[in-house]
Amino acid sequence: MIKLTGVSKVYGRGQAAVQALKDVTLEIKRNEFVAVMGPSGSGKSTFLSILGCLERPNGGEYCFDGRQVSSMSEDELAVLRNRRIGFIFQTFNLLPRFNILRNVELPLAYTDVPRKERRERAAALLTRVGLAHRLQHKPPELSGGEQQRVAIARALVTNPPLILADEPTGNLDSRTSHEIMAIFRELHKEGRTIIIVTHEPDIARYAGRILHFLDGTVVREEVTVQ
Ligand code: ATP
Ligand code: MG
Repeated sequence: MIKLTGVSKVYGRGQAAVQALKDVTLEIKRNEFVAVMGPSGSGKSTFLSILGCLERPNGGEYCFDGRQVSSMSEDELAVLRNRRIGFIFQTFNLLPRFNILRNVELPLAYTDVPRKERRERAAALLTRVGLAHRLQHKPPELSGGEQQRVAIARALVTNPPLILADEPTGNLDSRTSHEIMAIFRELHKEGRTIIIVTHEPDIARYAGRILHFLDGTVVREEVTVQ
């Protein structure tokens, strides 16, 4: 599904240039569950942003489902970003003034999914993550763990095969973290490809494969026993 060849990413230029990724070459197959670990600043978020087409690499090649991302038009990239990839951020990125039903519906706004179906899909996903009784509430009225569930529901509303999550349990207590990971485990069982960044070894163990980043490259890989 994902193939990176010699991918690098430099932010800024001249003296201010920061090499965030260096010559990353790897493949991730459909339905893999991958965890990304490594110290702060080692390039984990940059790696995820490139996979999610939020950032473009400066060098190397990124192929998604056999197609070179660098050769895609803006429209094709938008379709990839909006329909094929679900992105979950550590800080949730929910809209505080809209209720959670509208927050989850939002990624369908510019699709041909009829209005009624958008609402039904959003409600069904919020039910799935255990928030059926809170549909009319706004994000600031929910706990961190509940907001993370909303963010997961929103990432799923377009039914994407690939889910990327940057420290999805970073702000949560241990019990809530494991509840959130149980949702990811289910999504993986459904056949989706999941890539999460985490600092916590306990959380990384949900994945079948762990990539260890250091200074912008993968220095070690681990296969976990499930
Ligand atoms: P953390 O665990 O703290 O989230 P990370 O592994 O996710 O760290 P990245 O956010 O990928 O690290 O950053 C890698 C390097 O790139 C860091 O040195 C960071 O300062 C730099 N960097 C990231 N984003 C930018 C940006 N927009 N402009 C300049 N430098 C950046
Ligand atoms: Mg990060």
